[in-house]
Amino acid sequence: MITIEQMGSSKAPKGTTSRQVTLEEMAHIRSELERVLADIYDKGRDTVRQATSNSEQFADPADRASSEELNSIVFRLRDREHKMIRKIRQALKRMENGEYGICEDCGEHITPARLMARPVTTLCLTCKTEQEIEESLRQDRSTL
Ligand SMILES: [Zn+2]
Repeated sequence: MITIEQMGSSKAPKGTTSRQVTLEEMAHIRSELERVLADIYDKGRDTVRQATSNSEQFADPADRASSEELNSIVFRLRDREHKMIRKIRQALKRMENGEYGICEDCGEHITPARLMARPVTTLCLTCKTEQEIEESLRQDRSTL
């Protein structure tokens, strides 16, 4: 939903508070993302290879537990990597759609500095901070 305030602020002259990420910056971020993606795939292959070669060594049933433990670690690691892969793919897709660098919450441009530091982010610093405050409040309440 677009509010009147957002309509007004989108007409603000560029380069004042928040400027759009340039094509050069986006190309740089894109190559970074693709490199990270390739890294994850490489590491993933190594992790699977290690896990399978290690589990073959655990022929003794007494050692099977540690083998299963290892597999669960590998699984968690891959789960985290899967999430990162998904985030990177979504970022690349947003670049193709021309939506990259736009906060999905308020519709403002995310600062190039923030995009350089956190290329997969979908929120501007203001919205991210607000989200974090809300999350910490929710956690506080759930621990009561
Ligand atoms: Zn925002």
